[in-house]
Amino acid sequence: MRYGQPTQVKVERLIVGSFAAPAGLFRAGEPMEETVSYPVPAYLVETASERILVDTGLNPAAIADPAAYYERPDIFAVTSLEQEASIADQLDLATLTKVVLTHLHWDHVGGLGLVPASVPLVIQRREWEAGHDEEAVRRNFFLARDYAGSERELILLDGDTDLLGDGSLELLLTPGHTPGHQSLRVGDLVLGADVTHFAAGLDDHRFPVFADDHEQQLCSAERLRALRDAGRTVVPGHDPELLAPGPVAV
Ligand SMILES: [Zn+2]
Repeated sequence: MRYGQPTQVKVERLIVGSFAAPAGLFRAGEPMEETVSYPVPAYLVETASERILVDTGLNPAAIADPAAYYERPDIFAVTSLEQEASIADQLDLATLTKVVLTHLHWDHVGGLGLVPASVPLVIQRREWEAGHDEEAVRRNFFLARDYAGSERELILLDGDTDLLGDGSLELLLTPGHTPGHQSLRVGDLVLGADVTHFAAGLDDHRFPVFADDHEQQLCSAERLRALRDAGRTVVPGHDPELLAPGPVAV
């Protein structure tokens, strides 16, 4: 099956922070005593009528002392955050038409509060519900301070969705890393987000040691691998070798 070929869709990658953490935490089999710095990407997707932000990066207010900001010293005892420029420093957020979240982890939802409340949020329903379920919040290290209590319009998706109704931009339900994790396809480009942190993860399945459901994550990785093997470009979530800022071919 060929997808519709969008015209005039532009994708730009922003780097909206980085986090340093033990190598073995985010890639099974790597040493825990080695520290790796992972870039945090967000994407601006522009069509003739839409200007869509995909993920929002780190919360600038949390950078100096995230353990205190989030009141979660356990998470940030092993992770440190850095940010040169937030989404607000790099974009005119008032001109956005939608914000899409791949999932609710702090490196993806942290900047949401910087986006004007008039901009609707697109997320999978099961992710949003997990973000408001005490047990799922605990299991997934969600930090509700970044997303709870907003007056923003919600567009809750139930599985794969043709977002604009013209085949140009498709959200793919790719659960496992978190309960309602989603990826995004634009033309021949697939933003895989955290289905795999590294490009090699599609083949070697060396996922982070934590996940909502490792089996589902494996299925999602196989789904993205099939897309890659069919000729599409699948972009991983946090691969330090691959994620540089700038335009991305669709
Ligand atoms: Zn992430």
